[in-house]
Amino acid sequence: MAGTLYLVPTPIGNLGDISRRMADTLAQVDLIAAEDTRVTLKLLNHLGLKKPLVSYYRHNTQTGGEAVLARLLAGESCALVTDAGTPAISDPGEELVAQCAAAGVEVVSIPGPCALITALSVSGLPTGRFTFEGFLPMNRKNRKSHLASLEHETRTMIFYEAPHKLTATLADLAEAFGPQRRITLCRELTKLHEQVLRTTLGQAVEHFAQTPPKGEFVLVVEGGCPPPEEQAGPEQALEEVFQLQTQGLSLRDAVKQVSKKLEIPKNQLYSLALDRSNSQSERHILNVLIQRDITSQ
Ligand code: SAM
Repeated sequence: MAGTLYLVPTPIGNLGDISRRMADTLAQVDLIAAEDTRVTLKLLNHLGLKKPLVSYYRHNTQTGGEAVLARLLAGESCALVTDAGTPAISDPGEELVAQCAAAGVEVVSIPGPCALITALSVSGLPTGRFTFEGFLPMNRKNRKSHLASLEHETRTMIFYEAPHKLTATLADLAEAFGPQRRITLCRELTKLHEQVLRTTLGQAVEHFAQTPPKGEFVLVVEGGCPPPEEQAGPEQALEEVFQLQTQGLSLRDAVKQVSKKLEIPKNQLYSLALDRSNSQSERHILNVLIQRDITSQ
């Protein structure tokens, strides 16, 4: 029987965030696939564990993935860890999970530290609907077109960024969304110098022009305003009036109800509805007469 792949998150800065289940899983698996074995070795030393380690990083996902999958299919269990945070989230793992799913190997995800969720929850911006954008493309043209595709995004947007690119990225965001758009910059989360800066894109650009950014950042950007609701046209209003009539309302009451709901002047809607129902009944009478003519011939 095939083994199980465990996705084991690791702290994004604070070793106190290691959970009992993470440690137990690392202790119990046959092998650990790690993004950087040196980083994982330090974690294992901290936990007092010794485990066989194999490399699984961005540039060997194909061969590394095949090797891990072969061992899983042979019945071994494996934990996948990255340098920090949740595997497969802007980190290696996505392909391995897909390979396992395709091969029918069970994958268990252990919940734990993740920079984007930590940042979103503390941001003070709407959390109900959000979009995770990860790292923006480095290529200038792709980056511009990606930001243009977010022009009408109304959900809160979350970006990862490296400190040496932060100033340029903030300028691009300010250009794309305007300087007044709110942003929360979450720096060095869970670490000694953790900082949460709630400001606007324009002010953030000014701030980091004077204070060069240091440490790791998650950027949480407010979504844009939804486009104004399209005004309901007379056709839609008439449709609703006739719908209400089929439910038993008089024309007068149906018009009253719809004009209030769609903010259309009552008199205008009433005369439109009268015109339409007159022409409908005229059409009906005409049809009856034609039918009579045909049958009497
Ligand atoms: N898989 C990880 C996760 O679950 O969050 C993300 C890995 S991604 C390669 C690294 C990026 O995550 C950093 O560039 C930064 O944007 C963000 N990040 C990671 N740790 C962070 C921290 N302690 N504070 C702020 N941002 C952090």
